[in-house]
Amino acid sequence: MLKASCLCGGVRYEIRGALRGALNCHCSTCRKAQGAAFRSRAAARSAELVWICGEQLVSFYQSSPGNHRGFCRICGSPILSRFDADPSIFGIPLGILDDDPQIRPKRHIHVASKAPWFTIADDLPQHPEGPS
Ligand SMILES: [Zn+2]
Ligand SMILES: [Zn+2]
Repeated sequence: MLKASCLCGGVRYEIRGALRGALNCHCSTCRKAQGAAFRSRAAARSAELVWICGEQLVSFYQSSPGNHRGFCRICGSPILSRFDADPSIFGIPLGILDDDPQIRPKRHIHVASKAPWFTIADDLPQHPEGPS
């Protein structure tokens, strides 16, 4: 089980299963949403996510059609993403986790949109565009 919480602690949930598909996304939307060079994320089965508190504090912003990014409206932390195309999956920002998910990002995507001030210094595969 993995615990997750936002910066203010108002939102907490548990993932009672394994994450998969961890990667680093360098697209401009992720960079702005995270306020960082990239977003590290993985997928969780929505049926395995259990809210502990604060679900009512989560607001969703539709950053592209069908992609809803949830954030804590008190502290602004990214909480999870949900997708109209596949409600069985949530996108989990790894930065919200309080526990080690055991998996590690395996690739960089949207590297063509990478921040000019950031240099990728690992040997993971780099994809110019999105998931494939
Ligand atoms: Zn919060
Ligand atoms: Zn992205």
